[in-house]
Amino acid sequence: MQTSLKYKAYSLNNFRDIPQMAAVPEQLKRDMEVVGHVLPFKTNNFVVDHLIDWGNVPHDPLFVLTFPQRDMLLPAHYATIADLLDQGADSSEIKVAAQHIRLQLNPHPAGQVSHNIPSLEGEPLDGMQHKYRETVLFFPSQGQTCHAYCSFCFRWPQFVGLSDLKFASREVDRLIEYLQANPQVSDVLFTGGDPLIMSARNLAQYIEPLLAADLPNLRRIRIGTKSLSFWPYRFLSDDDSEDLLALLRKVSDSGRHLAFMAHFNHPRELEPQPVRQAILRVRQTGAVIRTQSPLLRHINDDPAVWIDLWNRQVDLGCIPYYMFIARDTGAQHYFSVPLVQAWEIFRAAYSRVSGLCRTVRGPSMSANPGKVQVLGVSEVMGEKVLQLRFIQGRNPDWVHRPFLAKYDENATWLNELQPALGETRFYYQEEQERFYRENLAADHPEDYE
Ligand SMILES: *Cc1c(COP(=O)(O)O)cnc(C)c1O
Ligand code: SF4
Repeated sequence: MQTSLKYKAYSLNNFRDIPQMAAVPEQLKRDMEVVGHVLPFKTNNFVVDHLIDWGNVPHDPLFVLTFPQRDMLLPAHYATIADLLDQGADSSEIKVAAQHIRLQLNPHPAGQVSHNIPSLEGEPLDGMQHKYRETVLFFPSQGQTCHAYCSFCFRWPQFVGLSDLKFASREVDRLIEYLQANPQVSDVLFTGGDPLIMSARNLAQYIEPLLAADLPNLRRIRIGTKSLSFWPYRFLSDDDSEDLLALLRKVSDSGRHLAFMAHFNHPRELEPQPVRQAILRVRQTGAVIRTQSPLLRHINDDPAVWIDLWNRQVDLGCIPYYMFIARDTGAQHYFSVPLVQAWEIFRAAYSRVSGLCRTVRGPSMSANPGKVQVLGVSEVMGEKVLQLRFIQGRNPDWVHRPFLAKYDENATWLNELQPALGETRFYYQEEQERFYRENLAADHPEDYE
């Protein structure tokens, strides 16, 4: 296995150049083209050469994760784009149709755009989100792309210019002022996109002033990233790999905790030697790697896969953190697993791993009122119910108060659930709706849930 590799990106316009594509049936490539006009995709030579099992196409989970699949679009949407391509329609016409379809795929789930923007002295802070008391999300303006454009991810609208999120966070000064004004905030989470797309020099322009400001409340810096498995050479042999590692070390040396919030969707991602080496090198900087992934049909909807995933992570010194429910956006109909089934998969896996793997929490929905965990199915006064609780709440007082929903084996998201035992509202709903009335930009009423 190579210890260095020259990066080559693939997307809609050049995926047919991938040597392994020659053996893929034309119909599948055609499907990628049709769907890829609506749901963007991007990958690189490491994923293609070392993660995808080309002998198992089209079922290989890393293949499905990487390339658009026909059923990711509803049949009518597929037909619209396919017909336009058949007619040789010009690209502006295809763009209009694609944009029309995208708007029907709930591009702004959980009020991602409009509800969580903090302000300082009455001025909104673009490029930041602050939903849960202790943690501020920061979107550095140069870090708003990814190694992949996963169609289950709430970030996909960013990659097609559909997001009204404004990434004005070239300025770290405003972040520092906000942290000074909000001593309850202990964590800053750099997110994107993938912040580790940035050069070490650009990243340093955010991290170094933050450290130099010497904020007593800032205890942890977190970085959300997919780079460990999708481009491990970021930590091995890119031109500025050593500078990046030195920057990470600087955070730990400052006495602050540096956490990688790493995405790994399938245990195969942890097999290649460069990935293991990258994990080791990051850990040697003093950073702790915590791991998360959504539960995805066609990719990892099997307890055996999660057992393997968590075990390998712990073997490599990573800490399992969250199992998410696939969000209500993009190709959710393709990836989603009903809540009851998600709980069954979680339980089957969780009950068969050592306590060292049971740091993971889930399955959890990042919904509008908060992160809601499905605790399981039980029976109360003769009624079959689903038990849930907040892991994070818009109001911290909601956290860890169990609540009950009517059993529904088809529900895939919080807004499809009804309160159990004759109640008409969940206990948090009135306050949640008041929050909406007071804060909601009236232009996203569909976010109500
Ligand atoms: C998940 C999440 C966080 C971090 O939550 P932790 O449970 O502390 O990891 C922060 N902000 C938002 C909006 C989130 O969705
Ligand atoms: S943030 Fe992670 S899940 Fe989302 S598109 Fe990027 S790589 Fe995929």
